[in-house]
Amino acid sequence: MNHTNQPASDTDSTPYNDVSMSCGCCGYSLKPSYEQAFNLVKLQPLNCDQCSSQLQLAEADRLVLDEKLQRAARMGKLAVLILGPYFLLGIVASIYFGFFVPAPFPGFSGVLVVVGIILGFVIKSASEDDIEYSFVLLTHIEQPTTLGAVTTNN
Ligand SMILES: [Zn+2]
Repeated sequence: MNHTNQPASDTDSTPYNDVSMSCGCCGYSLKPSYEQAFNLVKLQPLNCDQCSSQLQLAEADRLVLDEKLQRAARMGKLAVLILGPYFLLGIVASIYFGFFVPAPFPGFSGVLVVVGIILGFVIKSASEDDIEYSFVLLTHIEQPTTLGAVTTNN
């Protein structure tokens, strides 16, 4: 039985361009995908494309990236909540004023569309910030839980 359990999410391989990351070992500029950015937040290391080092975010950077991703997700949900009903109402209003009663003023449906675009733009800009994030990924993370647990040096 070969059941492919591949997630259908299209965010998996989408490049995450909001931040720049570089390898703390060789200095290579990494282009993480959304999935890799989420993985870094979840403490799953990323492999450097150039030197194959296992890379992780420093804890302070991890919290910054976590906050940034969560804010984007919140604003995405907000955009759906606001813009979805807005465009449904816009379509209903356009049909209503087009077929049953005269529009309140010429170009009424055009104004609806323009306002919708402005709303989308405002929400999009609110979900982003102007700070340029540049993370240097670490090749070794101190993990207090493993202290003294494993000793491989002979
Ligand atoms: Zn590297």
